[in-house]
Amino acid sequence: MSNLEDLYREIILDHYRSPRNRGELPTPPAHRVEGFNPLCGDDVVIYLNVRDEVLEDIKLTGHGCSISQASSSLMSAAVKGRSLAQVQSTIDTFKELMTGHDASLSKDEEIDEELDLRTLGELAALQGVVKFPVRIKCAMLAWNALRQGLEEFAQSPGH
Ligand code: ZN
Repeated sequence: MSNLEDLYREIILDHYRSPRNRGELPTPPAHRVEGFNPLCGDDVVIYLNVRDEVLEDIKLTGHGCSISQASSSLMSAAVKGRSLAQVQSTIDTFKELMTGHDASLSKDEEIDEELDLRTLGELAALQGVVKFPVRIKCAMLAWNALRQGLEEFAQSPGH
């Protein structure tokens, strides 16, 4: 159990110190969306390149606490190159993780955690955040911005 918590902490620190997909993409064709979490002062700017229903590229910049920055890095790695349907499914899964409603898990905790690592990959590292309700907004910031960006893109004329 504690080994797993150490592993999760390592993953979060690794993504905080070496954020993945950091940067900007030219707009257009990229769609740009911002998110801000006034409770903690975290911000994120996401650039999305969508083509043929695939999130071909994602870059982001931002500032804030380790949870918000690690979560945005983990998110970018999890969704880059995926179909929009897969991206939506990942957003939903992560939201379930943060709200603590995952009906697919059994009651055996150790099996649960192995299952989490298999199905969620490194995203499972953020599940400890659920114990700290204030930090859930930090972890969700980039995900909410991604969802908003994809909705705006879908509604934008001429795509
Ligand atoms: Zn924060």
